[in-house]
Amino acid sequence: MNNTLYIVVPCYNEEECINVCSAQLIKKLEQLQAKGLCSADSRVLFVNDGSADRTRDMLMQLHEQDERVAFLSLSTNCGHQNALLAGMLYAKDYADCVITIDADLQQDVNAMDIFLEKYAEGIDIVYGVRSSRDTDGFMKKLTAGAFYSLMQFFGADIIRNHADYRLLSKRVLMALDQYTEVNLFLRGLIRTCGFRSCTVEFEVSERFAGESKYSPAKMLKLAVDGITSFSVRPLRIIMMLGFCCVLFCIAWAVYDLVVFLQGKTIPGWTSIMLSLWLIAGMILISLGCVGEYVGRIYMETKRRPRYFVAESQHKPADKK
Ligand code: UDP
Ligand code: MG
Repeated sequence: MNNTLYIVVPCYNEEECINVCSAQLIKKLEQLQAKGLCSADSRVLFVNDGSADRTRDMLMQLHEQDERVAFLSLSTNCGHQNALLAGMLYAKDYADCVITIDADLQQDVNAMDIFLEKYAEGIDIVYGVRSSRDTDGFMKKLTAGAFYSLMQFFGADIIRNHADYRLLSKRVLMALDQYTEVNLFLRGLIRTCGFRSCTVEFEVSERFAGESKYSPAKMLKLAVDGITSFSVRPLRIIMMLGFCCVLFCIAWAVYDLVVFLQGKTIPGWTSIMLSLWLIAGMILISLGCVGEYVGRIYMETKRRPRYFVAESQHKPADKK
C-alpha cells in the first residue's frame, strides 16, 4: 500500500528517552512497511516542545544519521497538546495518516499494526484505549478516574482511558486545521469532528527512562481546559443552585409560618430568614441567567467550524 505514515512524537526534556524511542519507532516503521501497511517515505516526526536539555541536539544527530527521522522545534514550551497539534498540522501536508505517541513509549507500539489495518478498512480515527491502569500509581489512578467521571458529569463527550495515542487520517487533520481555539483539549476536539472511528485496546507499560513531564499544575490545566471548553454546565449549576434556594425558601416559609403562628419566635426572625433565602436564590438565578449568555458568547467566540463534509456524490455540470 502507498500510505505515507507520519508518527508524531512530542518531547519535552526527553534526553533519556530520545535514542531508544527513535530506534524503536524506526524499527516499527520498517515492520509496518514490510507488512505493506505504510510506504517507504513514512517518517518519525519529533516535536521538540521547547526542551531545555539536549533533546534538540540529539534529534539533530538522529536526523543527520537517518532521513526517516524528522523534527520540529517549538519556540518555547507550549505544552503537550500544542506540540501534538503542531506536529500533526505540519505532517498533514506530507502524510496520508498520522499516529501520535508519547516519547516515553508507555503505549504499546505494536498496536500501530491494528491502527493501520483499521485505517486501510476506511476508518478515519482510531483511538488507542488502555486496557488497564495497573502500571499507574495510586494518585494517578485516582485523579484520572475522577477526571473522566467529572468530564462525563459535565456532559463532555470523551472516550474513557483514551489518552493521545491515536491514528488520524488526512481529512481529519484538514478538519482539525479549521479549529481556531486556543485552549486545546484534543481528546474532546477530535470527538466533535465526527468521521468513522473505532477504538483499539493496548497495554500500558511504565516509563522506561526519565520522569513524567506532566506536573500536577499541567495536569490540572488540562482537566480545566477539558471541562470548560466542552461544557457550560458549571454555569448552569449556578442557576440550579438558585432554584434550589428558592424552593428551600418556600418550604422554610411554611415552617416559619407555623412557628410564627404558635408564637414561638422572636419578632423579626421570620422575615429575616425568609428574605435571606429568597434574595440569595434570586441572586443565584440571575447569575445563572447571565451565565447562560456568557456561555453562549464563549462558545461563539471559539468560531468552531459547524460541519465537515465526509463524502460528496455530485456530478456537476461545467462551471459557468
Ligand atoms: N510533553 C510535552 N510538553 C510538555 C509536557 C509533556 O511535549 O509540556 C510530552 C512528553 O515529552 C511526552 C508526552 O508529552 O512525550 C507525555 O508526557 P509524560 O509521559 O511525561 O506524561 P504522563 O505519561 O506522565 O502522563
Ligand atoms: Mg508518559
